[in-house]
Amino acid sequence: MRAFNFSAGPATLPLEVITQVQEELPNWRGTGMSVMELSHRSPEFAGILSEAELDLRELLSLPDHYRVLFCQEGASAHWDMIPLNLLQGNTNADYIESGYWSYRAIEEGRRYCNVNIAASNRIDQFTAIPDQSEWRLNPKAAYVHYCSNETIHGLEFFWTPDVGKVPLVVDMSSHFLSRPMDITPFGMIYAGAQKNIGPAGLSIVIIRDDLLKPAAARTPFLMNYHDQVHAHSMLNTPPTFTIWVAGLVFQWIKRHGGLSAMAKANTQKSGLLYDFLDKSGFYRNPVKHSDRSHMNVPFFLREPSLEDAFLKESSAQGLKQLRGHAVVGGMRASIYNAMPLAGVEALVTFMADFERRYG
Ligand SMILES: *Cc1c(COP(=O)(O)O)cnc(C)c1O
Repeated sequence: MRAFNFSAGPATLPLEVITQVQEELPNWRGTGMSVMELSHRSPEFAGILSEAELDLRELLSLPDHYRVLFCQEGASAHWDMIPLNLLQGNTNADYIESGYWSYRAIEEGRRYCNVNIAASNRIDQFTAIPDQSEWRLNPKAAYVHYCSNETIHGLEFFWTPDVGKVPLVVDMSSHFLSRPMDITPFGMIYAGAQKNIGPAGLSIVIIRDDLLKPAAARTPFLMNYHDQVHAHSMLNTPPTFTIWVAGLVFQWIKRHGGLSAMAKANTQKSGLLYDFLDKSGFYRNPVKHSDRSHMNVPFFLREPSLEDAFLKESSAQGLKQLRGHAVVGGMRASIYNAMPLAGVEALVTFMADFERRYG
C-alpha cells in the first residue's frame, strides 16, 4: 500500500504520474527506449521539452516577454547565479530575511555584493512576515530577493511586495504552482523541482527578457542565464528524465482543473490541519495566522518527550516523514499539490487519537 508521504522534499508525487511513468518507461511512445535513454538532441526529447514549457506557460498564463529555463542545478545554486547574472556591475542588492531559506540566500549573496537586509523577522524567531511598511529598500539596488514560502518555518507570502522599478527576484521552491499567481510583478522566479514539481535534479527559472544581459565575466558557463536561454537550456546534457516527469506533473495539474483547483484543495487541506492545531491544547503552530503556509505546516507537541512515540506510531500507520527540520525541531507536515485530502484527514485522525491516549 502507498503511504501518505509528508516529506518536505523530495516529496510525494501524484500516483497517476507515478503509474504513467511505470507504464511508459520501458518503451516510450514506440521508440523502443525509455526517455532516460533518448538523446537530448533527438526530436523526441525536443518535443518533451517544448511541451513541458508550453504546459507551464499555459498554467501560469506566462506573458511572452518571460523565458523559461530548465536548469540542472538545485534551487541553492541560484543564490550564486542571481548575483553573478543580475548585479551587472552594481555592488548593492536588497534581501528580505523571513526564515531559513532566505537567510541562506543572503549568506551566499554576501560573496558578491553588499547585501542590505531590508527587513527581517529574526527577532520574532521567524514566526511572522515583516510588514512591507517596515522594509528599508534601496532604490538603487540591483534587485530585491525574497523567499515567498519558507519551507522550514512554515511562512507564506499571500501578497506580492511592491519594490518599484527594482527587479523583484523570488525563491518559490516550495509553493510554485500551488495557486494562481500573477507573474508580471516579478523580474525572476526560481523553484527547485523536488517540492511541488517533480523528482529532484532540476530547477525552473522564469526570467524577464530585459534581465538577460551577459553575466559577469567570471561566471561559470553553465551558470549563465543569458547563454542558457539562447541554448534552450541545453548548454550541456539536461536532466532529461526529471524534465519528462515534471512535464507529466504539469499535465496532471491541467487535467485536474489547473492552479485554481490546486488552490482550492490546498486551502481546504491546510485549513483542516490548522483548525485542528488551534483547537488543540496538545499541539501548537507558532506562525501568525495570516502568514501560515498552505504547503508546509510545522507543529510542536507541548510535551517534546513524546516526539519519538509520535513519529514511530504515525509511521506505523502509513503517515511518513513527519519529522521537522533539524533547524526548528518538532514535526512538519508538507502537504503539496500531490497530497490528497485523505492524507490530511488521516493525519488529523491520528493526531486526535494520539492526543487522547497521551494527553
Ligand atoms: C528546498 C529548498 C531550497 C533548496 O533546494 P535545493 O534543490 O536542495 O538546492 C531552497 N529554497 C527553498 C524555499 C526550498 O524549499
